[in-house]
Amino acid sequence: NCKNGDDVIRAVKEYNVSFIQFWFVDILGNLKSFQVTPSELESAFEEGMGFDGSSILGFTRIEESDMVAFPDATTFQICAWRPMERPVARMFCDVRNPDGTPYEGDPRYILRKLTEKAAQKGYTYYVGPELEFFLFASSQCPQPIDAGGYFDAPPLDLGNDVRRDIIFALQRMGIPVEYSHHEVAPSQHEIDLRYNEAMKMADVVMTYKVVVKEMARKHGVYATFMPKPIFGQNGSGMHVHQSLFRNGRNAFFDPNDPHHLSGECRSYIAGLLKHAREFCCVTNQWINSYKRLVPGYEAPVYLAWAQRNRSALIRVPMYKPGKEAATRIELRSPDPACNPYLAFSVMLAAGLEGIEKGYELPKAVEANIFHMGEEDLTKHGIGSLPGSLYEAAMELKGSALMQEVLGEHTHANLVGNKLIEWDAYRTHVSEFELQRYLPVL
Ligand code: GLN
Ligand code: MG
Ligand code: MG
Ligand code: MG
Repeated sequence: NCKNGDDVIRAVKEYNVSFIQFWFVDILGNLKSFQVTPSELESAFEEGMGFDGSSILGFTRIEESDMVAFPDATTFQICAWRPMERPVARMFCDVRNPDGTPYEGDPRYILRKLTEKAAQKGYTYYVGPELEFFLFASSQCPQPIDAGGYFDAPPLDLGNDVRRDIIFALQRMGIPVEYSHHEVAPSQHEIDLRYNEAMKMADVVMTYKVVVKEMARKHGVYATFMPKPIFGQNGSGMHVHQSLFRNGRNAFFDPNDPHHLSGECRSYIAGLLKHAREFCCVTNQWINSYKRLVPGYEAPVYLAWAQRNRSALIRVPMYKPGKEAATRIELRSPDPACNPYLAFSVMLAAGLEGIEKGYELPKAVEANIFHMGEEDLTKHGIGSLPGSLYEAAMELKGSALMQEVLGEHTHANLVGNKLIEWDAYRTHVSEFELQRYLPVL
């Protein structure tokens, strides 16, 4: 648990660390890394480490491509998936311009701005994500390695040993795990992390994804966070439990409300509902993300909230007496292939907007929305999430709130990147078309 550069330098000596990986992410949440030797650390803490940002997605215009990575000492950890002898460590970095100002395209900076805005209102933002993933025989085709289902135990659950090694590795890196289980689809798994402040959690999510992939590789299997790898089976989500605390108390809790939810919590939910279409391109950023958001697979489609109903976008877990701190809401749309920094930023922004503007929360919808027809949906005023990446990108493009949260640079880059992806997909002639049309047309 390092607090500053001196602590890190001491730890590096004590554990005989050979290299330190400097980590940061691009706008899509791809992890970027370069290795630094211990002798460089002192100057890295003082002056940062320069790198060329021009080949990193969403990072710069060519003419201002010199970027500087400043390591965040508090994130120093020994990498549990690397050999323990002469170990490798990692630190997350903040990316700055050569003049020392924060780089506007750095996702950590975007999230920090939002959590600081929340802090000005007295709030600390806590998130608890549930990342689902598949284990396949290889990265070449989605071939399951077991036929297990929800909560199945070994021998049906063949990912058990992989999951155990993942959890041990996470724990060695100081990341507490709440529980883990086999998920609904064959070869699908979930490991739930203990909730934490958003910035710490976004770093943890990045680490989690590396650990899952590396441990799977050690077992000779391939782990993927692709949102919907198998047609006809559940996809992988990243439900995000969230709450706001003020002065150490849960600001979402109200003992006198029938749902035990405060007015702030209701407005927060209303904010998520109202802006969900605008932020969907961030929480669900791939063509494939929209193959998951269809009826019938426990993934949300409709803009509603409920207490028991898992077809709703937002679920409010039932209050357990005495568990005031656990009062929270669960947003079920995000998938684990999102950029966690930006995803937490846009969710918090939407919720805060709801509180600031005093949005009214629509009534809970406890019926299974997937069983409702067009007419019922209209009658209840229930809208839906974007049906495709294109629709989502256009919503993001038109959103003033999202432009404000992401900053003009990242907003424009993200929309542009997604429209290029859409165009590649739109013009591609697929297996589906050949099978369907060639024999008959
Ligand atoms: N896999 C489902 C999703 O796509 C969630 C299933 C569950 O956790 N009950 O969100
Ligand atoms: Mg779960
Ligand atoms: Mg799950
Ligand atoms: Mg859940």
